[in-house]
Amino acid sequence: MGDIKDYKIATLGSHTALQILKGAKDEGFETICICKKGRSKPYESYKVADEIIEVDDFSEYFELEKKLMDQNAVIIPHGSFVSYLGFENIGKIKAMHYGTKGIIEWESDRDMERHWLLDAGLKLPKIFEKPEDIDCTVIVKFHGADGGQGYFLANSPEEFYERMKDADSDRKYVLQEYIVGVPIYSHFFYSRLTGELEVMGFDKRYESNADSIGRVAAKDQVDVGIQTSYTVTGNIPIVLRESLLPQVFEMGENVVKASQKLSKGGLFGPFCLEGILDPNLNFYTFEISARIVAGTNPYVNGSPYTWLRYNEPMSTGRRIARDIKEAIEQDKLKTVLG
Ligand code: AMP
Repeated sequence: MGDIKDYKIATLGSHTALQILKGAKDEGFETICICKKGRSKPYESYKVADEIIEVDDFSEYFELEKKLMDQNAVIIPHGSFVSYLGFENIGKIKAMHYGTKGIIEWESDRDMERHWLLDAGLKLPKIFEKPEDIDCTVIVKFHGADGGQGYFLANSPEEFYERMKDADSDRKYVLQEYIVGVPIYSHFFYSRLTGELEVMGFDKRYESNADSIGRVAAKDQVDVGIQTSYTVTGNIPIVLRESLLPQVFEMGENVVKASQKLSKGGLFGPFCLEGILDPNLNFYTFEISARIVAGTNPYVNGSPYTWLRYNEPMSTGRRIARDIKEAIEQDKLKTVLG
């Protein structure tokens, strides 16, 4: 039987690192946090890291990888991890990596992601090939837009071209049906050891300035020319209407099943479906994150859902560490690496 004392858990100091490292320590692992110089304070103050390695830039990851490998560290990827290393570099990681690397490509490409989610039977907002096709309210999303900066709504081709006059016309964009409803981000965990899908919780984002525009009268919004942006500043917990839960489980299970056809090993560990719930209780999914999301951060001490199942504090970060621990103890570590 393997011993977790022979392994460590490591991640980059950002995004969900506090939760990941705290969860790892709660499961009995020693932890390593790779931090940008000058940004290690939270990891010291909250005492989640046994070792802090400081770097000038996260691109130095590959230079210190040997050091991680010498300590038998398992790397836990998160959203910032993928964006700092670049998804094209994920395949080059030689250290033990929790999760299937191949699935990141499916998440990073809008067309591939759409193919995956449609194959899983999910409802997606319509995509319009060209502005002339617009026949309902669309959200115009620019590629690489930082926090949804500059996104706008249009109801017709004419309105689209009118609003594009103010935008940088060289930027690539996608025209997506705008779903009027409430945003719901569903957090899942699928373990290859147990073969079971768990629903870990839900959140919505707290976005600036979109979440405060209602505090300004409509007339003033127009007079001042307020532009909507969706810069994420934090996350707000949600408890879902209970009768919707069976559908959520089914969606998660179908996404896992569909992923097994796309990439060897399929999706496992934490993931999130990001969508809108309309007034007829239809879930429209506009994105998948194939790793831990920051929306799980309110639940460092567990969510109402993990409490139901575990009767002990179980964050998504801790659930990852539990998966790795069980894999080590069953001599099946490869099952949770990819
Ligand atoms: P994104 O950059 O794709 O994460 O989207 C930024 C914001 O726009 C989020 O608050 C979403 O809730 C919202 N949003 C994205 N796509 C849609 C859509 N198709 N319909 C309605 N709201 C959307």
